[in-house]
Amino acid sequence: MKQFEVKAYGTEAAEASLKQLSIGRRAVTPKDVEIDILFCGVCHSDLHTARNDWGGTVYPTVPGHEIVGRVTQVGSEVTKFKAGDFAAVGCMVDSCRECASCKKDLEQYCIPGFTGTYNSPDKYSGGRTYGGYSEKIVVDEHFVLKVPGNLNLAATAPLLCAGITTWSPLKHWKAGKGSKVAVIGLGGLGHMAIKLAKGLGAEVTLFSRTQAKEKDALELGADAVVISTDNSQMKSVKGKFDLIIDTVPYVHDMNPYISTLNISGTLVLVGYLGGLDPFLETTPMIMGRKSVAGSVIGGIAETQEMLDFCGEHNIVSEIEMINIQDINEAYERMLKSDVRYRFVIDMASLKK
Ligand code: NAP
Ligand code: ZN
Repeated sequence: MKQFEVKAYGTEAAEASLKQLSIGRRAVTPKDVEIDILFCGVCHSDLHTARNDWGGTVYPTVPGHEIVGRVTQVGSEVTKFKAGDFAAVGCMVDSCRECASCKKDLEQYCIPGFTGTYNSPDKYSGGRTYGGYSEKIVVDEHFVLKVPGNLNLAATAPLLCAGITTWSPLKHWKAGKGSKVAVIGLGGLGHMAIKLAKGLGAEVTLFSRTQAKEKDALELGADAVVISTDNSQMKSVKGKFDLIIDTVPYVHDMNPYISTLNISGTLVLVGYLGGLDPFLETTPMIMGRKSVAGSVIGGIAETQEMLDFCGEHNIVSEIEMINIQDINEAYERMLKSDVRYRFVIDMASLKK
């Protein structure tokens, strides 16, 4: 396979800092789009992967799956893009395209497993995929999205993961006018969940651990804020919500949130992967026909639908722009929940 070298930022071990590396990108094949990366969002999953929180990270690893940029070259069979277009790439760069999930536009549930934008086996190179903390990326056009022309490009990047990850459960569980939605955690995913649920017409409440983000949440469109560490505030919303989107990245007690679900309500986990501690009490679920569910990103067609919706409703992420050289400090701030509300890397800084 023909390759060319590009500059990237990644890490060679879980305990090491991210630093500049050189990685190979494949030369465009007939269905490929080559993108010069302009902006890349910083997702908490990037940090989990860099530090091997989930196991399975193969080093060196280059994170980044909220990618927007400009097309520099396309393969001979590409029909959706031409050089000069703006384009975006999210969390997937391939899937089997043949299984029952892929046939239903649910590539994120591809049965043999989708190819993640980073840290996945790469069918082309035989190595691993490398993400968006890099100068360029080459992706099959099926996995490349069109960017609405009216939106700020840098603030659009986080839609590719934080946006679609919260959009997909909101749509699947039919959030809209008349529904009461709650969001746990005001970070990258949480702030997009508020904006998208409001855009869909739902009444939205934020659960946050402290009062520090209350004013911001209301400005982002939340109708109410409940401090999850305050028992009387938690009691005041008992039985209220049809849908709760839980974005918390680490193990936490879910039982207090279950009691805030309405009869037949659903709590969807999108953040934490792993065993629950403390355990989940089943009685309130059985006695109230309540569900606890999970959801991962969204399909490609659904991602385009979300981007188009954001174009129509002028929805983008709240961002703090950083240079790639600031990425290690950004991770430390993310661990302290000190992000308002998504770091986006200005990739021009990598060219310096
Ligand atoms: P983030 O920006 O760091 O936000 C997480 C928020 O959760 C924080 O702002 C904080 O909100 C709250 N929080 C953090 N630690 C907590 C703790 N120990 N207990 C309770 N609340 C806590 O992270 P993100 O980028 O939104 O990602 C959130 C999670 O979703 C990550 O685990 C990420 O890997 C995962 N993720 C999943 C998918 C998927 O497809 N399912 C896609 C992308 C990301 P408050 O300060 O308001 O309490
Ligand atoms: Zn992500």
